[in-house]
Amino acid sequence: MAQPKYLSGDVAAINEFIDKFDVFLFDCDGVLWSGDHVFEGVVETLELLRSRGKKTVFVTNNSTKSRPEYKKKFEGLGIPADEDEIFGSAYSSAIYISRILKLAPPKNKVFVVGEAGIEQELTTENIPFIGGTDPSFRRDVTVEDFNGLADGSLLDPEVGCVLVGLDWHINYLKLSHAYQYLRRGAVFLATNVDSTFPMNNNFFPGAGSISVPLVHMTGQEPVALGKPSQAMMDAIEGKFHLDRARTCMVGDRLNTDIKFGIEGRLGGTLAVLTGVNKKEDWEAADAVAVPSFYVDKLSDLRAAAQ
Ligand code: PLP
Ligand code: CA
Repeated sequence: MAQPKYLSGDVAAINEFIDKFDVFLFDCDGVLWSGDHVFEGVVETLELLRSRGKKTVFVTNNSTKSRPEYKKKFEGLGIPADEDEIFGSAYSSAIYISRILKLAPPKNKVFVVGEAGIEQELTTENIPFIGGTDPSFRRDVTVEDFNGLADGSLLDPEVGCVLVGLDWHINYLKLSHAYQYLRRGAVFLATNVDSTFPMNNNFFPGAGSISVPLVHMTGQEPVALGKPSQAMMDAIEGKFHLDRARTCMVGDRLNTDIKFGIEGRLGGTLAVLTGVNKKEDWEAADAVAVPSFYVDKLSDLRAAAQ
């Protein structure tokens, strides 16, 4: 497979790269920041791209935050960003439900396995939901639960969809409710299917590892709304009217970000080495995706200003 062009330190190649695109889609964690630490030079790099008339969009698989919460995170890290430029997997899921699934009464409620970020995005799209952060689902299962779930008397007949994201309080009771809804024909959605996500120089179970038990129980795969799902790309294209050939996806992860850009037939993909994947990963014979460009760190693009 063709190997990516290395841009770091090559001013002419960086300028040529920037000129090829009008829109840059940025993955967040691993590209702009790591946890709560913004990488040096990121703010200036975004400024440089914007000063050259480029559109910046921030695309994250983290479903635990809504766009307003993300905006706060950007502000806290000193990165200027409009709420409108932020595209998270919770938002992507909410607009998929309201504009593509178009759930209608009597089965228009969503059973949420996930956090407040999902609830906020569903609320913004006027989608009714249960589960989520409701404390009555965040407790141990009882005999009454088993009885009521078995005969269906504890289930809400209006639920037509189960949406699974990262849930810090995942438990047997929630999985049992979700499973019963899926058994009764609810549509199975996942905000994203990342197996793990990076935190504190280590990895933790990702949203994909929360939906896998339900895949095992039902034999069904969810429709995933985060990267690399093209449902997310279609939604981004619909919102920002992208010319895909003049759009570049920037990311640290081959199986989400780079795959997302390649399968979306974007004009290019740029890998940065400040996150999950390393050069050896795309050089491997069984590489999941190979970027078209790479830099050691995002701020290496600033050399274009010299
Ligand atoms: N999911 C969760 C819960 C996360 O915290 C993160 C990163 O912090 C991700 C997914 C991956 O996010 P991104 O797509 O911005 O790399
Ligand atoms: Ca990332």
